[in-house]
Amino acid sequence: MSKTWIASPHSEDFWLRDARVPTALLPEEPEPANSDGLVRLDLRITDGRITAIAPFGSAPDGVNLDGGQVWPCLVDAHVHLDKTQIWPRAANPNGTHAGARMAAQLDRAGWSEEDIAARFGFGLACAYAHGTAAMRTHIDSYWPHARIGWHVFRTLRDAWAGRITLQAVSLCPLDHFMSEDGIALADEVANSGGVLGMATMGLVDPDRQMPSDLQDQLDRFFGLAEERGLALDLHIDETGDSRARMLHMVAATALRRGFSQPIQCGHCCSLALQSEEFAAETIRLCAEARIAIVVLPMCNMYLQGRDAGRTPRWRGITLVHEFHAAGVPVSFASDNCRDPFFAYGDYDLVEVYREAVRIAHLDHPFGEWPQSVGPTPATALGLSQHGSIRTGASADLILFRARSMTELLARPQSDRVILRNGRVIEASLPDYRELDPVLVR
Ligand SMILES: [Zn+2]
Repeated sequence: MSKTWIASPHSEDFWLRDARVPTALLPEEPEPANSDGLVRLDLRITDGRITAIAPFGSAPDGVNLDGGQVWPCLVDAHVHLDKTQIWPRAANPNGTHAGARMAAQLDRAGWSEEDIAARFGFGLACAYAHGTAAMRTHIDSYWPHARIGWHVFRTLRDAWAGRITLQAVSLCPLDHFMSEDGIALADEVANSGGVLGMATMGLVDPDRQMPSDLQDQLDRFFGLAEERGLALDLHIDETGDSRARMLHMVAATALRRGFSQPIQCGHCCSLALQSEEFAAETIRLCAEARIAIVVLPMCNMYLQGRDAGRTPRWRGITLVHEFHAAGVPVSFASDNCRDPFFAYGDYDLVEVYREAVRIAHLDHPFGEWPQSVGPTPATALGLSQHGSIRTGASADLILFRARSMTELLARPQSDRVILRNGRVIEASLPDYRELDPVLVR
């Protein structure tokens, strides 16, 4: 990142003057916002914390931001750091979800601790340089091979503490939990401070029949979480087949069981292709079950609706506006980066938000949508210390030259400056050549 336009403040007590901040990222609206939802403020930083949020003109001196926007460091609620960057040796042959699963499965067989750690750490370094403060990664969890990935997670979580708050979720097919291996995995998740997760997309099998014991599998999965007090995070209905209706079943199961831990559901693509009535009923159940939704817009655009020689007809994303209107929390997140599920991506939540605005029409007005990469995922992950600008919080901030929302969203914001604990960080994006030792075989 270029830091040519701001020097790190030398004092432990200073002001950021003339900042524009989305009111959606503040605990309360200090004065009327402009048409972009921005307010003009001065922010006081003392000993690495925000100690005052004051009207513009309050600061006697300090760093003049000249009307540039200030956002909090952001929260990435759904990534795959164990799988990241494998594209050079595991390309998706045709860009489909089936092609991705096949390529990833072949590559996963060769994963060593050294290999996962190198790529996982690379992903964290990208995220940190872009201004991410917290992440939740899924870990491919096929027992007993999964032990390696979970060990890497625990090691890097501890090594990165204070820079990126890291959570992990198990990822395997739901029926994996019907065996003794599933119990061992649930124990590993619990002992690692993790979240219990699974994927249901693979349940849409070639003859389009869902397993007859699907409800039993789901109840077993919920039971394993209940016994261990684990939160849930699921890959749900990541398909353009409207017959995939697992989200409805998950919400109904959570309500019937009185499940008390947080649930986050990712993707939920097929909801957008179901009838209005069924979708409304599913959304109502999600609201009642207090399920949080995380949308992965760049991966969904990449994988969904792909058919060689045929132009995609839909955007692949779930019903974000309808969920939001029903009071269901909606986050946007990175998902895969440079692996068979998405050939691109760099753990940049500014890119994710920019793409989400364009793909899902989160504009005119921008409204509360800036929360979808900050306070909303922070709350869903139980990390409310991150993702908003409030008095007493760590001064973990992203400073932009962009003043308006179109200035922010028109360019990639490569000259943004990241403050952590009130200091400009010197981190830059890692060079892809750093991965040659593990990727070039
Ligand atoms: Zn995912």
